[in-house]
Amino acid sequence: MGTPVKSAVHSSLILVDYDHCSYCGACVAVCPPDCIILHDATLLIDPEACTLCRRCIPACPTGALTLGEVA
Ligand code: SF4
Ligand code: SF4
Repeated sequence: MGTPVKSAVHSSLILVDYDHCSYCGACVAVCPPDCIILHDATLLIDPEACTLCRRCIPACPTGALTLGEVA
């Protein structure tokens, strides 16, 4: 597991695998509500703004984004 801070996508179904994320920003570019925050090698998704459109999943070159279950 990653650090607690980076894994805090508690109420979103889009999960980030930080072992595979290269922080390239491709997902940020395709997100309609602009709810993916990339800053200083930290990637967070605002769960309240995410519409679950899933565009970010195929946009990720490393397959780091998945549709997951809420814990
Ligand atoms: S599912 Fe859609 S709204 Fe949610 S983070 Fe991905 S691109 Fe953005
Ligand atoms: S597109 Fe994938 S590798 Fe790039 S910043 Fe987003 S999650 Fe990380």
